[in-house]
Amino acid sequence: MTYKKYLKESNYVSGQWIAADSGKTIDVTNPATGEKIGTVPACGEAETVRAIEAATAAFPAFAAMPLLERVGLLWKLHDAILDNQKSLAELLTVEQGKPLAEAMGEMAIGAAYVRWFAEEVRRAKGEIVPAPGNNRRILVTHHPVGVVGMITPWNFPSSMLARKVGPALAAGCTVVAKPATATPYSGLAWAALCEEVGFPAGVVNIVTGSARAIGGAIMDSPAVRKLTFTGSTEVGKELIRQSADTVKKVSMELGGNAPFLVFDDADVDAAVQGAMVAKFRNAGQTCVCANRFYVQAGVYDTFVEKLIEATAKMKVGDGLADGVEQGPMIDQESVAKVEELVADAVSKGGTVALGGNRHALGQTFYEPTVVTGATQDMRVAKEEIFGPMAPVFRFDSIEDGIAMANDTEFGLCAYAYTREIGQIMRLNEGLEYGMIGINSGLITTVEAPFGGVKESGLGKEGGSQGLDDYLDTKYTAVDY
Ligand code: NAP
Repeated sequence: MTYKKYLKESNYVSGQWIAADSGKTIDVTNPATGEKIGTVPACGEAETVRAIEAATAAFPAFAAMPLLERVGLLWKLHDAILDNQKSLAELLTVEQGKPLAEAMGEMAIGAAYVRWFAEEVRRAKGEIVPAPGNNRRILVTHHPVGVVGMITPWNFPSSMLARKVGPALAAGCTVVAKPATATPYSGLAWAALCEEVGFPAGVVNIVTGSARAIGGAIMDSPAVRKLTFTGSTEVGKELIRQSADTVKKVSMELGGNAPFLVFDDADVDAAVQGAMVAKFRNAGQTCVCANRFYVQAGVYDTFVEKLIEATAKMKVGDGLADGVEQGPMIDQESVAKVEELVADAVSKGGTVALGGNRHALGQTFYEPTVVTGATQDMRVAKEEIFGPMAPVFRFDSIEDGIAMANDTEFGLCAYAYTREIGQIMRLNEGLEYGMIGINSGLITTVEAPFGGVKESGLGKEGGSQGLDDYLDTKYTAVDY
């Protein structure tokens, strides 16, 4: 195991590895074993203010760095991630729990985001717009927004930063980031990698500790011109409110409640294959996880039977063990929440067709679970499950399916299996979601704009849109 190479037990501010002013630390544990992996500094407001000052001081020179030089650093960062993919993936599995194969994938897509934005920034073109009269030119140009605050969750602790650090650095912005307390090492690894490849001191700063103190310092600072947050809708709403005082640009990647529709004409085997990825990846702890399976009456029984068969074969265990497909959940509270949702579904007429209990491995492990006969009055219809439980609902017409799918304040991602082109177009029109997967359960890719509508967020990550979020547009009128 080589994960210790990137296990950094200090914070990175102004090019220095530092402890908390108080000397206090926070323990980080492995969710699969409960064992302590190490500690990180319990930083707060003062250290964050210094990180913001460092990022502010580093900004002018970094923004003025010749584009090809900046792009060159991003290429080196991309290569450094892939050269150390196994060490970084092991670190991720040890602190977060996901199977090593998924962690390797998270590193690969993280590197791909860095490469994508290194390519994309070279095409961040401006415009010369025709003026209404003679003797005037209208120039529209793009400029880095400045210091960017980043707050990220524990479920994809590396790639959620990749989608923020990549475009920020490409655009010429400097960074103050706070990773989730449960999984800080994959965040701190970004600082180690940036230091290794030669980003100037102060360009990337990473602090761990109290969410309120660090978040508060970021939100209060007029020097921080943008906040990009990935996490729960509840915290996102609070941060949007806090952003008003300094009128920061905000990007919000928030909660989801993805519907997964299977129509009578679907290839049911393909739908089950897609369902397994969309539901059980990262033990059901992804924002785009299928939360509700809506299956048309004609294929309901077949789909349920095949879903149970596939789910029953899943190998549960420590993410580092060979062939494991589902690791632990992040903590005991998350397990308790799934237990509550299963109990609620059963009390309202649902049937546990598979699983439904804590796993024999104990700790934070929960059995892959299928609940049939789900209905809209159950909590699973409204709340993000964030665990390995698949509730299956029945629907009749496409109108009913779309109405049930949209019956939520969330609008991140939806999936549907059907081969009928007219139906596909009606889903494209009717589903109130920022992302739709047709005949696929896995649609995240660097080339596409990832992001939600309704209460699932603001802004996009990836695609050309993912760079726009880090650029201000300036208009200059030139009379001659
Ligand atoms: P969370 O509780 O909202 O935490 C996310 C981050 O915000 C963590 O770093 C957390 O710090 C910090 N935080 C918490 N309270 C804060 C406050 N008052 N001020 C400033 N920062 C604060 O979310 P989570 O449980 O880690 O992540 C799961 C959620 O993220 C789910 O809802 C999921 O759907 C969503 N998510 C969305 C996307 C997307 O792209 N749309 C992607 C992944 C996850 P601590 O760790 O120190 O508490």
